[in-house]
Amino acid sequence: MKRLFPYFKFLRPHWLAFAGALLCGIIYGAASGFGLPYMIDQVFPRIFPRSDENVGVELWTLVLYVSWFPAVFAVRGLSGYFNVYLINYCGVKVLERIRLQVFDKLQRLPLAFHHRNREGDLLSRVMGDTAQLQAIVLQVGNEIVKQPVTFIGAMSALLFMALKDENLAFVLLSLVVIPLCVFPVRRIGNMLMKRALLMQEQAGSMTAVLSENLSAAREVRAFNLEDRERNRFRKSSEDFFMARMKVVKYANLLTPLIEVITAVGVSAAIFQASRKGVHLDAVIPVIVALYMSYEPVKKLGGIHNQIKQALASLDRLDDILDVPETIASPSVPCDMDDVRGEITFEGVSYSYDNSDGDSECIPAVANLNLSLKAGETVALVGPSGGGKSTLAGLLPRFYDPSEGKVLLDGVDLRKFSLRDLRESVALVPQRPFLFDATVRENVFMGQTDHSDSEVEQVCGLAYADEFIKEFRHGYDERLGEDGSRLSGGQLQRIALARAFLKNAPILVFDEATSALDAESEDKIRDAMAKLIEGKTTLLIAHRFSSLKLAHRILVMDQGRIIADGSHEKLHRECDLYRTLYDSQFGAVPQSED
Ligand code: ADP
Repeated sequence: MKRLFPYFKFLRPHWLAFAGALLCGIIYGAASGFGLPYMIDQVFPRIFPRSDENVGVELWTLVLYVSWFPAVFAVRGLSGYFNVYLINYCGVKVLERIRLQVFDKLQRLPLAFHHRNREGDLLSRVMGDTAQLQAIVLQVGNEIVKQPVTFIGAMSALLFMALKDENLAFVLLSLVVIPLCVFPVRRIGNMLMKRALLMQEQAGSMTAVLSENLSAAREVRAFNLEDRERNRFRKSSEDFFMARMKVVKYANLLTPLIEVITAVGVSAAIFQASRKGVHLDAVIPVIVALYMSYEPVKKLGGIHNQIKQALASLDRLDDILDVPETIASPSVPCDMDDVRGEITFEGVSYSYDNSDGDSECIPAVANLNLSLKAGETVALVGPSGGGKSTLAGLLPRFYDPSEGKVLLDGVDLRKFSLRDLRESVALVPQRPFLFDATVRENVFMGQTDHSDSEVEQVCGLAYADEFIKEFRHGYDERLGEDGSRLSGGQLQRIALARAFLKNAPILVFDEATSALDAESEDKIRDAMAKLIEGKTTLLIAHRFSSLKLAHRILVMDQGRIIADGSHEKLHRECDLYRTLYDSQFGAVPQSED
């Protein structure tokens, strides 16, 4: 239970509903645990007086007596209903907050976290574990207040009857079996928690397989991977089934165990009642009260089991909530009103996390020193895996250097607010992600301070208006997730339009690796030339024809800058550059020593 306390703060806005739920639960418990046995004890002897007393009951008195039954059940039914309704309201509200908190956290976590974790597993935690928690909250909510109060009410009724008639005092002994129930409850609860954790992990793996499969629909068909994928999914589905059956095994073991233990208590009570010659009408309320005290024990055991399962899911959500936000804004950020755009990398190294932990991690960027003057366009070339994208990712602080620092106008990037910094850096990725929204919204990207005509203007600058006008709904055409309807060249033009609209002083341009048709290529280069004017630009060049736009070219290999200069100088002096350049332009590569 202690683990759940931090979440009680989410109840604060709903305290009235929660208090109402508690009150209704108390009324329900008192009506069931005490009211029912007490009524049987008090009313039955008056309705059915012993034959030796032989006193007839008057009609209206009889009506009064019998109306006790519907009255008690009405109080019990109404309070039970409102208890369940209100407690579920509170539980679902709290869960909603937890789900939002996890989603919110996922927005703030560094990119490295997303690289480390499978998308399917995160999906399963945010959706599956919260759904599991929700189902449990609903079930537990139904009983969590009612059952303890019913138990206390029933014990009070037993005590009341025992005090009234000393022949009945023996029933208190039958309650001795109740503490015996604690052992199986605790043991099974702990076993269940481990199994529930395993089950949710398996659910995560299964979702990961599914989400990977769905996002690789093209590759699965192209490489005939259908059978392999089917087997992979079947295996993970079977693992999930096995884990689930273990949960079912332990979750359902408790009720029969407690029933047997409490049946021993009841039979002991009946045995004693018979030995003491207690009359049947005195025994019935005792048995009802005993039942009313055993039943909550059984149900509370079940609740304990469910809470353990809920804790397993909560642990998986806490795994996300507890990840440190290593990339965050400082508490007092530096002002960023007038950015000149001078960028300096001072002894910067960056290594991706090595999840195996056993082999040494090779830095993606190693002890790099570099300066970009304000308004300068610097092209980065080099073999794939050389560290170009990692270097570019340091500018909007997708990653922070493991060593050294990156400065903007002489100030460490970590001193700026993350929001301001990212406002100042426009990114043109190789293949931009398109949201399932209209063309207009996809260019806006949340920048609401621009007008529709500005969107059309920037699309014109990026040469995107030509193909947008062809759409049936023009700028209001929905593009659909992943933009598979658009060609590589069209996608880059949308990305360029976004950058034109953002008009940030720093630009990171990652050129598309896939070949574009000659017309697209010319247009994109034209648009780029307009876009980079007066901006500090880092251009990851995959096509050497774009190098014309750069003031300076850097050759990057194994995380280091191995050469810096003009095309002529590099072609003359740098073997790697010459090899890369000549291979792209069809010249016979010169041999490297
Ligand atoms: P480039 O852009 O020049 O192709 P990258 O910056 O993408 O190079 O990669 C540099 C190095 O970092 C490579 O060795 C690559 O394997 C590694 N790397 C890139 N991204 C990740 C990642 N998300 N996790 C681990 N290693 C990565």
